[in-house]
Amino acid sequence: MPEGETRPEILIASLARLWPNRQHESNWLKSLACRLGMHRWQELDIGRLVPNEKASFCRWCTKIRFRGAVYE
Ligand SMILES: [Zn+2]
Repeated sequence: MPEGETRPEILIASLARLWPNRQHESNWLKSLACRLGMHRWQELDIGRLVPNEKASFCRWCTKIRFRGAVYE
């Protein structure tokens, strides 16, 4: 692994601790939207952890989008 490179899985695990569980915002309609892949992305500033990177998390489920890939 090159220096300064963090594996996404590890990074996502630490990002997931930055915000509380959002599923209380959810309801059946939003859950359905998520199951259909229509997530409610909200951008998260992770510049403190990973400079010049951005991540988004879904306000309705536990998914996180990072570098174009979606993580649980
Ligand atoms: Zn979602």
